[in-house]
Amino acid sequence: MATANIPNGTGDFTQSQAFLRSILNSTHYGIASYQAMTDSTGKITDFLITYTNSEVPRNFGLSPEEVIGKTCREVYPGIFENGIFEKLVHCMETAQPEHYEISVPYRGKDVWLAAAIEKVDNSVTVASKNITEEKENQIYLEQMKKMLEEKNAELERKNKELESFNYIASHDLQEPLRKIQLFHSRIYDRDKEKLSEMSLEYFASISNAADRMPRLIEALLSYSTTNFKGMAFEKTDLKDILADVLIDLEELIASKNAKILAEPLPKASVIAFQFRQLLSNLISNGIKYSQKGIPPEITIDCEEVQSEETKPKRYWKINVADNGIGFEQKYEHKIFELFQRLHGKTDFAGTGIGLAICKKIIENHKGFITVESQLGKGSVFSVFLPVK
Ligand code: ADP
Repeated sequence: MATANIPNGTGDFTQSQAFLRSILNSTHYGIASYQAMTDSTGKITDFLITYTNSEVPRNFGLSPEEVIGKTCREVYPGIFENGIFEKLVHCMETAQPEHYEISVPYRGKDVWLAAAIEKVDNSVTVASKNITEEKENQIYLEQMKKMLEEKNAELERKNKELESFNYIASHDLQEPLRKIQLFHSRIYDRDKEKLSEMSLEYFASISNAADRMPRLIEALLSYSTTNFKGMAFEKTDLKDILADVLIDLEELIASKNAKILAEPLPKASVIAFQFRQLLSNLISNGIKYSQKGIPPEITIDCEEVQSEETKPKRYWKINVADNGIGFEQKYEHKIFELFQRLHGKTDFAGTGIGLAICKKIIENHKGFITVESQLGKGSVFSVFLPVK
């Protein structure tokens, strides 16, 4: 077996010097030797750079030739301000080794060094390592951590706000409303004969508004809790969900003489009760926004689509198409916003929340929803659900 030619302390001096030089030149550590310079009273005032490998001056765009033989005051004047000079002096005077991390400004950036100082005769040897990259990563990670903590705190605060909003909506708002309805009906029952035609009309308006209000509150509550109810994803046969929805909508379908044409739907991983609400909202809208004198016809089908641009790449595209009144395509985004309605409440009752809930539900499923519509012809709502 070959043995390495390592000086053992008894070997010749030239060989050990060459060995040392090769280590100093090849190491990634900066190694330098600074000789103490004193004034007439013996006080250390500066250090003479007697040796440095290239790693130390390279951090500041210099070469060993440019710094050896010069003083620290000439080459590294910053050490008299950032505390390093004091550390060098302390080590010289006490022979206590020192370890420190420091950032030194250079060309508008911070150079981070981890260093160790040791006294050797009337000099100090400084071994340093450039840790700028690690430090920057660490600072970046700390900033990210702080940002995440702040975001978490904000989210918690928002959740609390939402909880109290839910409470207000479900209790505090319902109560005065019940009072309005109660006293409205008392006055009406007692005095309806005495009221003028105009007053009776006003009374009917009050009654309509008061009847609409609980529906609005309920829809708003449903929207605000869409994220928070049990988020159990389960492999579910979407065909079964659709069958349940059609049973729920039986009355509406019959009353509007609507025709539902449904093609087979796949099995998919969904939050079942949310998906049920999603399909229910889309189908009931399809029936509601029908054209006068034309029975609604709703077609539900599904295909698997792929796209290189999207992540995930594979989706189930579930289309809910109707032959209703449609709308101008320029409203394709607006209708998914909370409380945005294209049609007046006298023509079509509603709250403007249903599609906002649909959007939230499909986003909970990491998917998205789009619509294509033509005024007077009908609309196709497409739900994109990731294939898992
Ligand atoms: P709502 O039906 O309670 O008003 P939605 O959020 O479900 O609320 O719908 C928002 C608006 O989008 C509706 O007011 C209506 O103007 C329009 N819209 C929704 N679905 C359809 C549809 N199938 N055909 C035409 N317009 C629609």
